[in-house]
Amino acid sequence: MDLGNLEKVLAGEPAFRLGQAKQAVFRDLIEDWQEATVLPLSLREKLSKDIPLKVVAEISVSKDKKTIKALINLKDDLKIEAVLMRHQDRNTVCLSSMVGCPLACEFCATGKIGFKRNLTIAEIINQVLLFNRYLKKENQRVNSIVFMGMGEPFLNYDNVLGAIRVLNDQDYFNIGARHISISTVGIIDGVEKLAKESLQVNLAISLHAANDSLRSEIMPINKNQSLGEVLKSVENYFKTTRRKVMFEYIMIAGINDSLKNARELTGLLAGLKSTAFMVNLISYNPTGIFKASTPKQIKDFKSVLEKSGIEVTQRYRFGQTIKAACGQLAADKT
Ligand code: SF4
Repeated sequence: MDLGNLEKVLAGEPAFRLGQAKQAVFRDLIEDWQEATVLPLSLREKLSKDIPLKVVAEISVSKDKKTIKALINLKDDLKIEAVLMRHQDRNTVCLSSMVGCPLACEFCATGKIGFKRNLTIAEIINQVLLFNRYLKKENQRVNSIVFMGMGEPFLNYDNVLGAIRVLNDQDYFNIGARHISISTVGIIDGVEKLAKESLQVNLAISLHAANDSLRSEIMPINKNQSLGEVLKSVENYFKTTRRKVMFEYIMIAGINDSLKNARELTGLLAGLKSTAFMVNLISYNPTGIFKASTPKQIKDFKSVLEKSGIEVTQRYRFGQTIKAACGQLAADKT
């Protein structure tokens, strides 16, 4: 759904037609303009021709029905993935911001396919539209967003922020900013720009290592911007926004999960105000190279952090059976 196009096509019509069209697409969740009977037939035909509503996707559902993965076909035949995760009253969609990703993190399936291109605002919001249509039969809606799918959101900053404004807008998706999270490797320019936006979205930084040499090994972007620089930008972000930042840490067996690594992490974060951040430990979802840490290792690691006064959470595991878990999105057929 290209909103710019919608306004263009309806430019010669009475002003209320735009409102009716938005209501049909975003509230009534029509999949074909012919369903919008409030609009004259000639206009429905014009809209069908100029602004197709269909989102072409292959849907896979996990056995427990809590994870739904969509493999979405784009106009140029490239493919992306988006995932709906259902947990209690939350319908969270993990969005992609790129086709592939240029950052080549060692543990990530998306990084292995390289970078194809950035997604447009329309391609980003279509992922949510698709799942709103999926949830319509249960009278439910997507009410939470995480930019944690394919791609680095801050390397597609303008389109990601443009999409967030549409997702947050009452006339469109009406998803509260506090229920929208951006997960980044810590692109400093992006962190600085986000701090200046008047948006209450959440920021998560993928840390995954507590020293530069290990982080550069598993996340090549670290060779261009050190951990110290990333932490400095987080400190400034907190000073400006007073919003707590989440540090994501994927637990990979034998790589970054020892007690020495845990102590190193507490040392690294010691310079930050304890109210400025929390740490989220994530069980690694194997993509072929590394192994996941054992539950005991994660528990011991967590306890080292907690003993030093750090607030720690552990992410619920979604979607491994359909390769929809964190770091597993690769749109096999891209
Ligand atoms: S983890 Fe994120 S930034 Fe790294 S390669 Fe994968 S998608 Fe890109």
